Amino acid sequence: MAKWVYLFKEGDAGMRNLLGGKGANLAEMTNLGLPIPQGFTVTTEACTDYYNSGKKITDEIKDQIFAALVELENMQGKKFGDNTDPLLVSVRSGARASMPGMMDTILNLGLNDVAVEGFAQKTGNPRFAYDSYRRFIQMYSDVVMEVSKTKFDAILESVKEAKGYKLDTELTADDLKEVIAKYKELYKKELGQDFPQDAKEQLMGAVTAVFRSWDNPRAIVYRRMNDIPGDWGTAVNVQAMVFGNMGNTSGTGVAFTRNPATGENGVFGEYLINAQGEDVVAGIRTPQPITKLAEDLPECYKEFMEISKKLEDHYADMQDMEFTIQEGKLYFLQTRSGKRTAQAALNIACDLVDEGKITPETAVSRIEAKSLDQLLHPTFDPAALKAGRVLGSALPASPGAAAGKVYFTAEDAKAAAEKGERVVLVRLETSPEDIEGMHAAEGILTVRGGMTSHAAVVARGMGTCCVSGCGEIKIDEEAKYFELAGEHIVEGDYISLDGSTGNIYLGDIKTVEASVGGNFGRIMAWADEFRKLQVRTNADTPADAKNAVNLGAEGIGLCRTEHMFFESDRIEKIRKMILSNTVEAREAALADLIPFQKGDFKALYEVMEGKPVTIRFLDPPLHEFIPTQESDIAALAKDMNLTVEEVKATCDSLHEFNPMMGHRGCRLAVTYPEIAKMQTRAVMEAAIEVKSEKGFAIIPEIMIPLVGEKKELQFVKNVVVETAEAVKAEKGSDIEYHIGTMMEIPRACLMADEIAEEADFFSFGTNDLTQMTFGFSRDDAGKFLDSYYKEKIYESDPFARLDQAGVGQLVKMAAEKGRTTKPGLKLGICGEHGGDPSTVEFCHNIGLNYVSCSPFRVPIAKLAAAQAAIKNSGK
Ligand code: ADP
Ligand code: MG
Ligand code: MG
Repeated sequence: MAKWVYLFKEGDAGMRNLLGGKGANLAEMTNLGLPIPQGFTVTTEACTDYYNSGKKITDEIKDQIFAALVELENMQGKKFGDNTDPLLVSVRSGARASMPGMMDTILNLGLNDVAVEGFAQKTGNPRFAYDSYRRFIQMYSDVVMEVSKTKFDAILESVKEAKGYKLDTELTADDLKEVIAKYKELYKKELGQDFPQDAKEQLMGAVTAVFRSWDNPRAIVYRRMNDIPGDWGTAVNVQAMVFGNMGNTSGTGVAFTRNPATGENGVFGEYLINAQGEDVVAGIRTPQPITKLAEDLPECYKEFMEISKKLEDHYADMQDMEFTIQEGKLYFLQTRSGKRTAQAALNIACDLVDEGKITPETAVSRIEAKSLDQLLHPTFDPAALKAGRVLGSALPASPGAAAGKVYFTAEDAKAAAEKGERVVLVRLETSPEDIEGMHAAEGILTVRGGMTSHAAVVARGMGTCCVSGCGEIKIDEEAKYFELAGEHIVEGDYISLDGSTGNIYLGDIKTVEASVGGNFGRIMAWADEFRKLQVRTNADTPADAKNAVNLGAEGIGLCRTEHMFFESDRIEKIRKMILSNTVEAREAALADLIPFQKGDFKALYEVMEGKPVTIRFLDPPLHEFIPTQESDIAALAKDMNLTVEEVKATCDSLHEFNPMMGHRGCRLAVTYPEIAKMQTRAVMEAAIEVKSEKGFAIIPEIMIPLVGEKKELQFVKNVVVETAEAVKAEKGSDIEYHIGTMMEIPRACLMADEIAEEADFFSFGTNDLTQMTFGFSRDDAGKFLDSYYKEKIYESDPFARLDQAGVGQLVKMAAEKGRTTKPGLKLGICGEHGGDPSTVEFCHNIGLNYVSCSPFRVPIAKLAAAQAAIKNSGK
């Protein structure tokens, strides 16, 4: 028979997967001999079983729960459901990973109309007994029966008001009886039945509610954001109650062994005298700092300090603890490794190494890679933020804090920024033409678009704060205003954006520059020592590349060349090329572009100082470059000696039904080899010149996008080689160069062994590979993915976190196949996923050479790479 229920004394910290974090630590603390109210844990497997059995708790599990309950009764010397001296319990959820806000705890379970009288007599404290009962009714109704807590609060407030009280503690026993009667009335009115009087029924109701809470919408969203699988399930802890609300020698509190904001060594916490459970965090009364306990209850304080030190030493990590004091006796109710800011995490990890408590490997493994983001962007001044008014909230697309004046077009944003204003660009959605305005802005807000929309991807690349997809906004870009939460905001008004939470604030909230302290560097140096994967960056401009190098990038894994064509002095030339009817005319138009491209590449090479640079040839469908505004079309027609109608006709002919799968990528080079020729010339001339001018050992890496067939690559490669050799001959240079391909079409992965014969390297373009494998476009998926999350079909956004089961299989297979025909094939990944820690781990495991990600994610990827290497080596 499976074991579904464990007494605390039967478990330990190693059983986290089965008992959940809270349960495993309660067991561990019990083993350490600490003062823990005893209890038992219903396992996470029981939760999974509940879902597999059609949301039912089987009799076998029920029997084990009641058997454990009997053991608990024996330990406590009290009977559950007794009328004179009842055993009361708390019911607490606890998953493997802490999931705040998943389910609220139920306290004082086991009370009913009769037992509360016995409890009052037994404790000699009627006020306390009735207060416990009314809290229980409120929590049970809210958590188990889903009757809103606010309805109960309203009753409590009205009774207080009628009596002229301010504080809950002023309520007398009789007042509380009145509250209880009203609570029960409300319960009956809302649910059409009486409040359950049977303790076992209460218990099973509560256990079921915990299991059910695993799948509530908040929990599903939290899991998706934190990569927690849906099939883990949650455990349930049933624990004997201790009471912090029995008078002035009782109390409850929370504390950390070190400061969770700064990492400073020293106990940091708060408590409330004569209070229960969440009163401390609920903010009803102002809690006291923990040091004050030394005056109030010196014995308890001393014991508390000893135990917290013991716990920190035992776990060798900063602990977050919950405790309760019942009539002068201290109990611990929880300990866990405390959540902390990124800065605190770095400081604590380094301090623990210096204190000889952990190794550098452990220190590196402990830092949550994603959290480094906080250190790389400006943040809001906390006090100013608290005072700010939230207008709404949308997707936290690119982290950081931004405050500035609202502008509605890229040109206006750019112009205002040039005048020295701080600017927030607000758009329905952004397009490549907005790039300069986006660059100029402190922050970007869009009405449409998901986490991988143009705005989101570009903003992350630039390290600019972006909040995207705020559908509640009513915007009129022409009239230059938007409306949100009843505010009418016009050009020049101040708003503030928090790209880490997605919040949109009214007004100009003060920001502070991120500071990178010395411990950050220490951790990164250790990470560099341990990791095997190289980390490159996706950068198109020297400024972005410089940023990335400062953050530790070891090369450029993806330079998108199309961005180079959108600037105002170039776009006309590419438009001319597109509208040309003959090869000669196209070549002439392209020739004008060579100096620009060459200049761009030279600047990049100079910044990179000989580090590898992968340049991807033109990728997007040509229609992205054509003019849409009448005035632009007219100017172009005039310039090219064509009629407006002729220009429009050519533009129309570029229309595609499915541009993502249309005339783009290497298909452009197959139909217009002159484009590839021009780009090759620019790449080679730039490399030769920088090499001779600066002496850097440059080996350009030319990357052909969207290849699906060996002959396709062969064709483009021939064009590239022919031009490159010609340039070398002209310049008398013997410079080396590599030609590879972006692996982003499922067919390419299937044919990887053949394609590898023509390629020096593969770089997995997992954005396209994901959309082509799933068969849905990343620009449209946002519309339906939410339903998929809700129905648990997909758990996370496959564009943010690589779908290792499906797309990952293609990547792994292609890597293996490629190396069968070319053992030295260099392998990398350059999709958005390159900066996602779980994807980085995957890339390490399948033996890629490098990952490439946006500049601000370079440290994250490096840390994740080190963590993967440490995990793999089993240290
Ligand atoms: P969360 O996971 O939200 O912190 P907990 O299960 O830790 O929820 O419960 C919240 C609070 O309820 C605890 O910090 C503690 O103050 C109180 N509590 C829980 N169980 C007991 C108990 N057996 N006796 C007294 N208080 C309890
Ligand atoms: Mg807790
Ligand atoms: Mg692509």
